[in-house]
Amino acid sequence: LDEQEAFDIEYWLLEEAKLQRMPKAKSLAGRVAFITGGAGGIGKATAGRLLQEGAAVILADIDEKSLEIAEKEFSQIFGDDVVRTVLMDVTSEDKVNSAFRFASLEFGGIDIVVSNAGIASSSPLDETSLENWEFNQKILSTGYFLVSKAAFSHMKSQSLGGAIIFVASKNGLVASANAAAYCTAKAAEIQLARCVALEGAPMGIRVNVVNPDAVLRGSKIWTGKWKEERASAYKMSTDDLEEHYRQRSLLKRNVFPEDIAEGVYFFAADISSKSTGNILNVDAGHAPSFTR
Ligand code: NAD
Repeated sequence: LDEQEAFDIEYWLLEEAKLQRMPKAKSLAGRVAFITGGAGGIGKATAGRLLQEGAAVILADIDEKSLEIAEKEFSQIFGDDVVRTVLMDVTSEDKVNSAFRFASLEFGGIDIVVSNAGIASSSPLDETSLENWEFNQKILSTGYFLVSKAAFSHMKSQSLGGAIIFVASKNGLVASANAAAYCTAKAAEIQLARCVALEGAPMGIRVNVVNPDAVLRGSKIWTGKWKEERASAYKMSTDDLEEHYRQRSLLKRNVFPEDIAEGVYFFAADISSKSTGNILNVDAGHAPSFTR
């Protein structure tokens, strides 16, 4: 190194050290996030991630007990002035609209909406009842329609733009055994997101999708029948499922609620200000780009 190069490096290192010591502004400070299914695995992890970045959150869920627990936990960490909960069923337009009104009144507006509340159910096609088919469509595609419609109206009237993120599923892009009703409903969510992105763009409303692969740990879905249904579809025991998902991924990793939350955070924050109508698969490299 000559003298000038050594000086430049030392100068750069000092500047870096200075930057490290400076308190970093939180990227979502002053923003308000409305999260459906906020008392469950992915929704709750997302709430934690957005709170860390300085956002205030409203957790909307049908599960009152889990809402209470989540509110208590988050209030202890982040303070009770940045966390609110609202009991809400995504299939009821009245309940969705009044939850949005409540959120907007509590925090003075809504900047980020995470449409995430959902279920999963699986059965072979010839054993899928009309009732089960309609149940999937109602909670997933219709629920996402009602939430995005309310989000869109709020953001439009605020004239400040906004970010809407759908937590859909890899199964909205690729077919999965014994899950026609679920896969179809998830595909509808993805196409809905594109349509809302198209209509929202002139108003600065960005709409993006995060597709998880199976998230077993932390998810309430997996403590129900879904685990057995999936194991039966893959003709294996429930104990082998996690390993099955790990092995079929390119990175040989399972995904967790916190991984999905990072994807949602990306689309919620200004770092993705040039992204709309996009899909991010958080699946350790499984679908849909690879034939294996
Ligand atoms: P979870 O069961 O842990 O959380 C879902 C939450 O949604 C729960 O708190 C539940 O009470 C709530 N909810 C269910 N029905 C509702 C309704 N009608 N109105 C309001 N809230 C309702 O499950 P999760 O794994 O966190 O799932 C979140 C989303 O991610 C779902 O849309 C799911 O389909 C999707 N997803 C999950 C996985 C996975 O393997 N866990 C994979 C791909 C996609």
